[in-house]
Amino acid sequence: MTISTSPERSIAVPNALEDIYPTDESPRGTLGDDRKKTWEQVALFGFVAVPLLAVLAAVPVAWGGWLSWTDVVLALVFYLISGVGITVGFHRYFTHGSFKANRPLRIALAVAGSMAIEGPVVRWVADHRKHHAFSDRDGDPHSPWRYGEGLWPMTKGLFHAHVGWLFDVEQTDQRKFAPDLLADADIVRVSRAFIGITAFSLLAPAVLGGLITWSWQGALTAFFWAGLVRIAVLHHVTWSINSICHVYGKHPFLSRDRSGNVAWLAVLSFGESWHNLHHAEPTAARHGVLEGQIDPSARVIRWFEQLGWARDVRWPKPERLAAKRSDAVRA
Ligand SMILES: [Zn+2]
Ligand SMILES: [Zn+2]
Repeated sequence: MTISTSPERSIAVPNALEDIYPTDESPRGTLGDDRKKTWEQVALFGFVAVPLLAVLAAVPVAWGGWLSWTDVVLALVFYLISGVGITVGFHRYFTHGSFKANRPLRIALAVAGSMAIEGPVVRWVADHRKHHAFSDRDGDPHSPWRYGEGLWPMTKGLFHAHVGWLFDVEQTDQRKFAPDLLADADIVRVSRAFIGITAFSLLAPAVLGGLITWSWQGALTAFFWAGLVRIAVLHHVTWSINSICHVYGKHPFLSRDRSGNVAWLAVLSFGESWHNLHHAEPTAARHGVLEGQIDPSARVIRWFEQLGWARDVRWPKPERLAAKRSDAVRA
């Protein structure tokens, strides 16, 4: 049986850059090296731990009256922008090419996804393409099955797939897995501006909160809710796709890994938790293809298409989906 989930197809341009740039002058999509340095690990720990601490403090802070409607609206708006930047931008567009975007949209999606503070776009895409190339096998940067089955190996594996893998020193080879992005000077520029975009993503809510309420307290609470808490929720929702959706969920489609569809994560993840379909048909612009499966990212892509900003959208084809149903094979 052949299951045609060949993500390699879309990334197979290795060594193409050597024709354009001499090896030692190749552009990097990130400021760091091929191996992460200590300062990067420390900064990463800060960006994982501090927003999480904010979530732990959220209930007493809200109880103490330090939560206004301005904070709620700002948090939702920034969650939407950075979340769509990840799901529609980094994932469906940059990683899998499920549609073509005009240049302003391409750059806007790169910036919006960077605002999720999940790493520079080129690194994110390289890691995720590698995940598809090796899903749940040796070489997958974040498989929860890395340590095997059983309670303790699974506990370790879930932690690794959720957040532990981020601290791996070895980095995915961007030249091998994202040569198309490295060949685009605008995208390399956005990728290398990651630190500045991170600062903007955290400080913009504070500035807006301060201006709207004309108070320092408004700036502080907006920073807390629309900056820190928003980032923490988005981080853990994204990472749950890597951890939870490769252990739990339904498998209506054939994929060569253990990806599952997890319904309760669909709204928060903007449709990304229909992860079994996604691994079965990685380039499809819609992941929630079955009746009742909500997929807000697909709706956004449809709007971009109607506005004329996106074209050649790879909407899933019913006959291909039918061929990939797991029950169709058993019948
Ligand atoms: Zn996956
Ligand atoms: Zn993917």
